[in-house]
Amino acid sequence: MWFHFRQKNVTAIPTRKMVSVRLEAIGGQGANSAGKIIAEAAVLGMGFTGNHFSSFGSEKRGTPVRSFVRFSLERRPVRSASFIQKPDVLVIFHESLIETHQEILEGVGPETDIVLNSAKAPQQIIFPKGLQFRRLMTINATQLAIKHECGLNAVMLGVTSLFIPEIQQVQLEGHLQKFFSKLPPQVLENNKNGFAAGLAKAKEDSFDESQAVAEHHHSLLPELGWLNAPIGGVITNPGNSILKDHSVSRKGFAPRFISEICFNCGYCDMVCPDFCFVWQLDPTKKEAPKLQGIDYQYCKGCQKCIAVCPVEALVLSPESEISTEEKSHRLFPDIREADGSLIDFNKKEAKK
Ligand code: SF4
Ligand code: SF4
Repeated sequence: MWFHFRQKNVTAIPTRKMVSVRLEAIGGQGANSAGKIIAEAAVLGMGFTGNHFSSFGSEKRGTPVRSFVRFSLERRPVRSASFIQKPDVLVIFHESLIETHQEILEGVGPETDIVLNSAKAPQQIIFPKGLQFRRLMTINATQLAIKHECGLNAVMLGVTSLFIPEIQQVQLEGHLQKFFSKLPPQVLENNKNGFAAGLAKAKEDSFDESQAVAEHHHSLLPELGWLNAPIGGVITNPGNSILKDHSVSRKGFAPRFISEICFNCGYCDMVCPDFCFVWQLDPTKKEAPKLQGIDYQYCKGCQKCIAVCPVEALVLSPESEISTEEKSHRLFPDIREADGSLIDFNKKEAKK
């Protein structure tokens, strides 16, 4: 879906001498590989000069990853190896990053095109107050990746190729194939299909002016002022066992439990590294325990449970399709206020 912001009559990408692409993702989603493929297509395929590098969180899956690609169409030496401050194209692999890591929007301006992996329509995306950009495209890349059993990066590359017309699509496709050529043929084929599906979906969606709205005025993060500004060096949004929100650690997929098929064998619980499965025990101990569901507060989306389930009672699903009810199973009782209402730790953090 396309969304134009402010400059409604600008649809073509202007001639650029230098192109900067910044990819924002979670470890394991393939942003580093996607950046590498774009850079190779630009430099080795098109003969431009350029560079690529990535910045990783704590070097493991589930932490934010930023990948940076610059290339010069005039073939000037590209010496800067600093973070890209003002991207021409910003590719966001995980929608939750907009809320939890707003620094990913740094440097976005009226000349920036944004590609966002989301099941929502562009006008439903909430950006911080005052953010300006040129165009926004949302695409449910997670669903396409599941459908084609390919990497999310292949789909995102297919979409992004529309935003960097300076690189011929055949070059991007060729370097994607080169990258996956060391893997089994079926994996290569799946990723080629994912790339094509992303590109086709992006092409079939046309700009609809009725989707445009004037401005977004909402920030989901508490605004910090002199009263509540954190002390220097404090991490305001750490992973912790109180907020228990692992949604950003997951790659956009999570297992979905189909209780009608489950026969309570317990294999899933045996392989789950985080003991996420919630069971109902029979107090009389006459009946075997029955699996109720998954406590998604602890699930990191590793998919081991899906691999071992003998009857497909656990299936891979985009997170956006898992209902609130399915997410309501709890291993431990929620911590409540004296009046019985749920404690909102986010609000408590914001008040400090
Ligand atoms: S995806 Fe991984 S962490 Fe989540 S329930 Fe399955 S095995 Fe546990
Ligand atoms: S492995 Fe599958 S069938 Fe066995 S308990 Fe888990 S969900 Fe149910």
